Amino acid sequence: MIAEDHNYYHATVRDKAIYNPLAGRVDTKVCIVGGGFAGANTALGLAERGVRDVVLLESHYIGRGASGRNGGFVFGGFSLGEETLLAELGADKARALYVGTVASVELIRERIARHAIECSMEDSGVILANWFRNDAAMLRRQRILKDAFGIEWEYLDRARMRERIHSERYYSGLFEPNALHFHPLDYLRYRARR
Ligand SMILES: Cc1cc2nc3c(=O)[nH]c(=O)nc-3n(C[C@H](O)[C@H](O)[C@H](O)COP(=O)(O)OP(=O)(O)OC[C@H]3O[C@@H](n4cnc5c(N)ncnc54)[C@H](O)[C@@H]3O)c2cc1C
Repeated sequence: MIAEDHNYYHATVRDKAIYNPLAGRVDTKVCIVGGGFAGANTALGLAERGVRDVVLLESHYIGRGASGRNGGFVFGGFSLGEETLLAELGADKARALYVGTVASVELIRERIARHAIECSMEDSGVILANWFRNDAAMLRRQRILKDAFGIEWEYLDRARMRERIHSERYYSGLFEPNALHFHPLDYLRYRARR
């Protein structure tokens, strides 16, 4: 059984099984090290392309790392931010990479539907909430997303934020409709089992 005390996802995951360690010597075409999203997605991507001779090695248990304890928000883009992406790569490469992340959101949706993955998906967008009383950064980000990548994040002023979030804390927000939330550990462990 995986430990339940790490976080909400570990406490509520559907599959708590620990799999047997690899014993003896195994010959394989592909060996993937690490049972997080990167490793499991690589294995699944290979399987979908007909490569079956794959071994996935994990030193603890599937989802023990960041993939089993993250926010569970699925949306396009990179943590380093759009402006840094553009500055480092230039417009064309940055756009190509950004578009790839948007396609991967759709790929995740497709895989959840195709494999009927039980992962508590809530596919109704994500709000980037602003708690500063200044909209300049939000509006700037909205403009860059549209101009550089053709992505439309909807601006929510204070009144519209209140309609959606019953809290005084947030001043405004950007709504990304092409985004979802899921139980990342359920998603990952389902994927790794198959
Ligand atoms: C608090 C937090 C919140 C986040 N929120 C989000 C979010 O909302 N949305 C989002 O998209 N991203 C989010 N992220 C980022 C996301 O979780 C990571 O980018 C992603 O999980 C990385 O996956 P990974 O497979 O590269 O690494 P990991 O999930 O860390 O997997 C690596 C695995 O490799 C294993 N391993 C390491 N060394 C070895 C070895 N030598 N032999 C065998 N196994 C080994 C580890 O045990 C581990 O299980 C968040 C991250 C954190 C920390």
